[in-house]
Order: sequence, then C-alpha cells, then structure tokens
Amino acid sequence: MSELFLRQQFPIFYQQNDGSPWLYFDNGATTQKPQSVIDTISCFYSKQNANVHRASHRVSADTTNAFEQVRKEVAALINASSEKEIIWTKGTTESINLLASVLAKGHVESGDEIVLSALEHHANIVPWQQIANELGLRIKVIPVNKDGVLQVANIKSLITNKTALVAVSHVSNALGNINPISHIIAHAKKHGALTLIDGAQAIAHLPVDVQALDCDFYVFSGHKMFGPTGIGVLYGRQVLLDGLPPYQSGGEMIEKVSFSGTTFQGLPFKFEAGTPNIAGVLGLGAAVSFLKAHQSSIHEQEQALYTALVTGLRSISGIRLWGDLENSVCVQSFTVDGINNQDLGLLLNEHNIAVRVGHHCAMPLMEALSIVGTVRVSLSGYNTLPEIHHFIDVLQGIVSSLR
Ligand code: PLP
Repeated sequence: MSELFLRQQFPIFYQQNDGSPWLYFDNGATTQKPQSVIDTISCFYSKQNANVHRASHRVSADTTNAFEQVRKEVAALINASSEKEIIWTKGTTESINLLASVLAKGHVESGDEIVLSALEHHANIVPWQQIANELGLRIKVIPVNKDGVLQVANIKSLITNKTALVAVSHVSNALGNINPISHIIAHAKKHGALTLIDGAQAIAHLPVDVQALDCDFYVFSGHKMFGPTGIGVLYGRQVLLDGLPPYQSGGEMIEKVSFSGTTFQGLPFKFEAGTPNIAGVLGLGAAVSFLKAHQSSIHEQEQALYTALVTGLRSISGIRLWGDLENSVCVQSFTVDGINNQDLGLLLNEHNIAVRVGHHCAMPLMEALSIVGTVRVSLSGYNTLPEIHHFIDVLQGIVSSLR
C-alpha cells in the first residue's frame, strides 16, 4: 500500500495556508485527526445533538446508544473484561488526578509508599506528590541509566510490602522507550501493590491488552490517538473501581437524591458527574475505528520511519541520541554538542518542520540525565520517508551552519 494512503485521510496536510509542505513531527504532543473523526464530530453537532442518559426522546436515545457503543469499542481495543471498566475523563491528566483523589480517601495511609519511575511525565508525578504531602506517603523512584533506560534490576529493593501503588508509563513521552511494564507489574503484584500504567504515549503505537498486562489501572488521552482533545480514559479493574468512592458529584452519577441522603449509580456512571463530552466520545469512537482498521499499516510505516530517522540522525557528527533505541516507538530525542536545543527548534521551524524542544514535561528525567532538555522528533504512520530524508538534510545543514 502506498505510504500516502494514510496521509491522504488527514485533511490538515492539504490545507496549510501558504501551501508549502509542513513536516509535522510533534505527534507525541498531539496527533492530527483523520477526516472520519472530523466528520463524526461535525455530524453530531449538525444532526444528532442531544444530551445522553436523560430524556425519553428519540434523538437522545440514539445519541446515548452511540455514546455507550464507543465505551464498548474502547473496552474491546484494550481488552477490558467489561465496558463498565471504562471511565470517561478529560484526558490522561484527569484520569491520574481522579485516581489519586479517590485513593486518598481512605485507600492509602501515612507510611505507605508509591513507586514511580524517573521517566514519568509530570502528570504522573505531581498528583502523587500532592497526596503524598497531604497524607504522609513516601515516593520512591525507579532510576534510569545514563542513556535514559529504566533500571529494573534493583526493583526488589524499591517495591516492597510497604508499596501501595506502582505508577509507571508504558512508553516514555520524552524518549520513546517502551518500558518493561509486565516485569514491573508482576513484581508489584507479588507485594499486593496496585498498578497504574500511563499509556498516553503507547495507545497509538502498540497493541494494549490490560488483562494480559494484569495491571489494575491504565490511562490514556484521545487526542494522542487521532481523536479529539478533551476526552480520555481511565480503565480500572471492576472490583477495584466498585470499592472506590466517587470523584466528583452531581447529576448523572446518582441513583437517588434526597435531603436525608444520596445513593450513587454503579459503574461506570459513579465516576462521571455532569454532562459528559459527548462529541469527544463519539469522535474518540471514530478514532478507535481508524486505529483498528489501519493498525498494521500504521505499525509497519512507523517502523520504517524510525529506522530511517535513526540512521539519518546517526550520520550527523556530534549528535547524541537518548533512550533505548532497540526498544522504542517512533520517537527519538537528541541533542547536538555545543548547539542550543531552542536554536535548533527555531531554525527547523523556519523550514516548516515542527518538532518539540525542551524538557517535555519530564524535568526529573532531564535532571537524572544532567541535561536541560532535548529535541524530540515524534512520528506517526502518516509521516513519510521523503519527509525524514528532507528533515535529515535540513538538520545537517543547520548543524553545519552553527558550527
Ligand atoms: N502522560 C504522558 C506519558 C504524556 O505524554 C502526556 C502528554 O503528553 C500526559 C501524561 C498528559 O496527557 P494529557 O495532557 O492529554 O492529559
């Protein structure tokens, strides 16, 4: 299949204002949206707009059915055992905050330990720090080596019977490493610790099977997997979610309200107070269909792109590649000796090449690597080999001009 087949489904690449080619290599921040996702959202507002779960009229019933069907599709995508295990949130950040907030209500106590990794995005650090400060919990960190690869050899001394929760990312957003989460989860289980996997950077690139992983919670954002912004997922094992208190309260999440007391709905609605992001959920449904329909061609293209990218980068003198190159999604971080990352980002931008520079919301990782940041190229299946070759030529030229 032509590599343009996927790209042709993304109208943004054909609608740049000045008509010049735009190399979008910032997919780790957010992916572009295929026409099917855009059409689904537009169709909802133009033809099907009604609230869900409330009225007895036809359009509301149709919308509710479509909305709940997406929950089933998301459950199938990650092999959850029931759609009741899929909670809608605004995104990964809210999913983690939700979990931290409800676990803090009686499920963790002073002296408990939370194990994170040095690679985590701030979204999987700060909510845990907040409850650790509030409740007197201790945070321990799985370290990285000098390249930024997680060091799990000493995990036995980090995860112990005091560990209440292990929260690690499936894939590092800053470096692209695929972390050994099965190994970490298995070890956490032995000590009865809960496990949360931050799948924000994995869901668009890797097949995810929460039952095979045996994790307790798995979180991700729609906008990083071709879906809209403002919609995300908290997957949780049903028996655990059943035992946790609600997050926010109000309409939709109640069974009965009276001034003498209120009872709550069961899963998943207990965690979904107020009118949800209906257009976002429907758009996410279209993104799931897109991903499932094209998973193998996306994967194949991403592998070819990554190989070409790493080969090209290695040909530039003075470049330092970070992360685990043998075990990575199509994301590569680099620095160039003696050249400022921001300068590289600005000059690449002048050539219409969009990359991300800086700490990538992973300041503790940058500290561990003794760097201030990197230039990150994060690719997706709609990128092309000619784009990679052009990027390497441009980067080579910029590096030579700055030397
Ligand atoms: N975790 C990881 C690994 C991420 O890469 C990101 C976003 O870049 C987040 C969490 C936060 O995601 P969001 O901003 O969609 O809530």
